Amino acid sequence: MTRKLNRRGFLKLGALLGLSACSASPAKQAATSKARVVVVGGGYGGATTARYIRLLDPGIRVTLVEPNPRNLSCPGSNEVLAGWRKLDDLAIDYAHLRQNAEIEVVTAQAARIDNKNRVLALKDGGKLHYDRLVVAPGIDFRWDAIAGYDFAASQRVAHAWKAGPQTMLLRNQLRAMPDGGVVMLTVPAAPYRCPPGPYERASLIANYLQRCKPRSKIIILDAKTQFSKQALFFEGWKTLYPGMIEWLPSESEGLIEQVNVDTLTVTTHFNEHRADVLNVIPPQKAGSFAEENGLSDAGGWCPVDFDSFESTLLPRVHVIGDACIAYPMPKSAFSANSQAKICALAIVNLLNERTPSPPSLINHCYSFLAPDYAISITGVYARTTADKRLIATTTGETPMNADHAQEAHLAKNWQEHIRKDSFG
Ligand SMILES: Cc1cc2nc3c(=O)[nH]c(=O)nc-3n(C[C@H](O)[C@H](O)[C@H](O)COP(=O)(O)OP(=O)(O)OC[C@H]3O[C@@H](n4cnc5c(N)ncnc54)[C@H](O)[C@@H]3O)c2cc1C
Repeated sequence: MTRKLNRRGFLKLGALLGLSACSASPAKQAATSKARVVVVGGGYGGATTARYIRLLDPGIRVTLVEPNPRNLSCPGSNEVLAGWRKLDDLAIDYAHLRQNAEIEVVTAQAARIDNKNRVLALKDGGKLHYDRLVVAPGIDFRWDAIAGYDFAASQRVAHAWKAGPQTMLLRNQLRAMPDGGVVMLTVPAAPYRCPPGPYERASLIANYLQRCKPRSKIIILDAKTQFSKQALFFEGWKTLYPGMIEWLPSESEGLIEQVNVDTLTVTTHFNEHRADVLNVIPPQKAGSFAEENGLSDAGGWCPVDFDSFESTLLPRVHVIGDACIAYPMPKSAFSANSQAKICALAIVNLLNERTPSPPSLINHCYSFLAPDYAISITGVYARTTADKRLIATTTGETPMNADHAQEAHLAKNWQEHIRKDSFG
């Protein structure tokens, strides 16, 4: 049951979100009693927005559109590859959002935005009217970016960059590989979902191989020349998996030109590499719903105003999470959750005819290197007054001599907290 917040409760929640006291007040909430917000996408971004709009103003009707009956969390999915977790442990259903936040969850795929009439058409023929629309479709892959690696190829050589059957395909191939085999990961150029994710994946595959196939090796073919938390990963690999992980940056390899899923070979500008298990993480773009509805730019991602995450291309439509351009924030579940809270408050304010306040956004990303060894990176972000860019005001990383077991403990707690905060 959703209870309406009194003034003190509203201000307390606002303060927790880093919001100013001149935000929408309970007295103003009457104006929104018939307003309807529709949210496309029930991942970390969409679920959090839906939940926080209802918390801030239960007068607003919120409908969440998501084709899957449950969310499979990407955070934690590298642990499935290491064998510490089961895929089912990552599943979150929408029961709490339905029951505790009284959000209507429609199991359907959103198809078309008719912004003139403020109607969202669903693939099954249904139609939903909205006053504000939030779009959080995550990512899709650029299937034309690497010769030889399209959707059909991904059914044999996994990307495992969306949790689910792809995670299991890669996990089963790792299990079937003989000891002494070579596991190869390809990593795209930025921007892509979860910048440190490929290196966490290499670490956790190394953890599995060390226990079960200790003569094996991991090669990372990277389209970049440096990566997130690099010094911390190198230090951890030296301590935990000496000689097991080789990182080959684009400086020495050149870019990836071709993948052959029959022979499991990757051709770079300078070399050809053969793997026993190949994991291709392809270049990415905003979820195709964004592109099909004119929300993304030529680069494939969605430009937004940072005070409200309203699209700069389509008024009354907000885009959050991996799909939006929020550089220098990384594309992470933490960022999506932080953006969602700013977006939720901005929508409540806009529906109450108030101007959204400038945002304060945060990201804090943990990476596991072993069950009892983790590292992290943090950033706090604000928008500039003059040209309305997003900038990092504070950044930091785990110190080299930190207690990595303690970080691993915090990382596990964070996974639980963000699930609860996003999905109720
Ligand atoms: C291996 C891996 C590990 C990661 N680890 C971490 C971590 O430790 N910490 C962290 O912060 N982040 C991590 N991430 C990143 C994190 O998963 C993403 O940044 C986050 O999920 C983005 O949230 P989102 O809501 O934008 O997208 P998603 O969570 O992908 O949600 C998008 C939703 O939209 C739905 N959708 C798409 N199209 C439509 C449509 N037309 N109609 C209706 N619904 C639609 C999809 O079904 C999906 O449920 C990791 C990612 C990977 C791949």
